[in-house]
Amino acid sequence: MSITDEIKNYALDLGYSSVGITTAEPFPMFARSLEERADDYDWAVNSGLRIERGVDPHDRLPGSRSIIVAVYDYFRERFPENLVGRIGRLYQSRSYIEPPLRIGGMRVQLMRQFLEKKGMQVGRWFMISSGVPDRLAAVRAGLGRIGRNTLFCAPDTGTFVLIHTFIVDAELEYDAPQEASGKATHCPPDCRLCIDACPTKAITADCRLDPRRCLTFSHVVNVHGFRNTSPYIDPEIRPKMASWIHGCDACQEACPRNRAKMNADLPAGSFLEETAKHFSLTGLLRMEKDFEEKAVAPLLYTYMRDRKYFQRNAAVALGNSGDPEMVPHLVRAMEDPEELVRAHAAWALGRLGGAGARRALEKSLSKETGGRAKEEIRSALEKVRDP
Ligand code: SF4
Ligand code: SF4
Repeated sequence: MSITDEIKNYALDLGYSSVGITTAEPFPMFARSLEERADDYDWAVNSGLRIERGVDPHDRLPGSRSIIVAVYDYFRERFPENLVGRIGRLYQSRSYIEPPLRIGGMRVQLMRQFLEKKGMQVGRWFMISSGVPDRLAAVRAGLGRIGRNTLFCAPDTGTFVLIHTFIVDAELEYDAPQEASGKATHCPPDCRLCIDACPTKAITADCRLDPRRCLTFSHVVNVHGFRNTSPYIDPEIRPKMASWIHGCDACQEACPRNRAKMNADLPAGSFLEETAKHFSLTGLLRMEKDFEEKAVAPLLYTYMRDRKYFQRNAAVALGNSGDPEMVPHLVRAMEDPEELVRAHAAWALGRLGGAGARRALEKSLSKETGGRAKEEIRSALEKVRDP
C-alpha cells in the first residue's frame, strides 16, 4: 500500500467521511479576498490570529509539500430538541474542542501522531487547525465545492461537515481539484434560501459573508479583544440572536443540500441526550459550577471558557424569549459581579418590559457603578417606559 493510501485509510478509520490530498502551493484566492476585504477582516489580519499567513502553507510549515484534507460529517446522531435553535450542531457534536478533552479534538491529535510516526513534519497553528484556508484546501483536494452560503458542501453529505487540514513536508499523490471560482457555480442560480434564512443578513453576495454580522462572531469571536471588536454585543444584532447562544445553523437548515440529513431519523446518542437534560438558558445565566461541568464544558469549551461570556449570551437569548417569567432570572443577573453580564441583563429586561423589569432597572440604576452598564440600564428604561 502506498503512503498516500495508508494515510487515507487511517483517516477513514478515525471516522472521517472523505479524505483528499493537495499540494502545499499558496492560495491566491485567499490572498485576493484578504486584500479586497481588508475592512471586513481587519480584526483577524496582523492580529494574534495572523490569518494572512494561511495564504502560503510554507509560512505555517517551512518545507511543506502537501496538505491532507479530512472531512468529518458531524450530523450523525439526533440533536436534542432542547439544544436545537440554541447551540449550533457543530458544537453539539463535540467536534470543535481541542485535544485531548473530547474525541473530536483527539481525532486531529491521532492523525498528527500517525503522520509523525511515518516520519513527516506536521504543521500546527491554533487549536485543531493547521491555519490554511480549509474550505479552499478541501476544494483543491477535490472533495466538494463552496456554496452561496460560503460553506463547503461535500457531495452526498451536505454542509454539516468539519474540515481538518494537515500540512506535511512529504510529497504525496494529489487528487484532482474541483473548480474554485469565488462564485457559487454549483448552487441553483435562483436559490436564495440561505440568504433569506440568515437573521442578520450576513451573507451579502455569492460566497461572501460579513463576518461581524454572523451570529457566531457575536457569540464567541468578539470576546478575544481583536482590533475594532467589543465583547458588548451590537444592540442591532441582539434581537436577531433569537435563542441562539453558541453558533447558528439557520443558513444550513435552509439549504436543500441538507434536506436529507434534516429529515433523517437518526439514532439518539446517550451522551448528548444526557447532557441536554442538564441544559437550560436560565442555568447558563446563573452558570453555577455543577451546571458548567455538566452542560457547558462538554459542548461549549471551544473558543472561550470565561463564564461571563456564556452568561452574556444567555441574557440576550432570555431577553428575546418574550417570556415574562424570565424577568426574575434577569433581575438576579443584575447583581452579577461582571459588568458585562449586568449590561446585557439590563438590555434583556428592557426587551421583555413590564412593571417588574422597570422596577428592577430603576433600582439597579441607583447602585450601578459601571459606565457601560449604566448606559444600558438607561436605554432599557427608556424602552420599558415608552415601549
Ligand atoms: S450562521 Fe447564522 S448568522 Fe451566520 S451566516 Fe449563517 S444564518 Fe447567518
Ligand atoms: S441554500 Fe441554495 S444558494 Fe444557499 S448554499 Fe444551499 S443550494 Fe446554494
